[in-house]
Amino acid sequence: MEQKVEVSTWRDHAACKGTFGELFYPPMQGERRSERRLREERAKRVCARCPVRVECLDQALRTKEITGVWGGLNEVERRGLLHATEGSGI
Ligand code: SF4
Repeated sequence: MEQKVEVSTWRDHAACKGTFGELFYPPMQGERRSERRLREERAKRVCARCPVRVECLDQALRTKEITGVWGGLNEVERRGLLHATEGSGI
């Protein structure tokens, strides 16, 4: 008989788990700049109270996620962070 082992990951504790996915990624049909800003502000408010924000941002930076809000930063902000830390040994 096969035994199932439950493995908990940081994703299990994400404040966005389940219901807020549409806040974190742009819609397929696109969005206006003002809509994007509002959507991202709402997503970042969820991230601000997320207990796994550090783990989430770390994953996005390591995998160079190209879109969406991860760890409270959008893709432009993450690229800026990566650029700022290049060569700094961080
Ligand atoms: S930091 Fe934001 S995107 Fe990452 S798991 Fe938490 S709520 Fe979701």
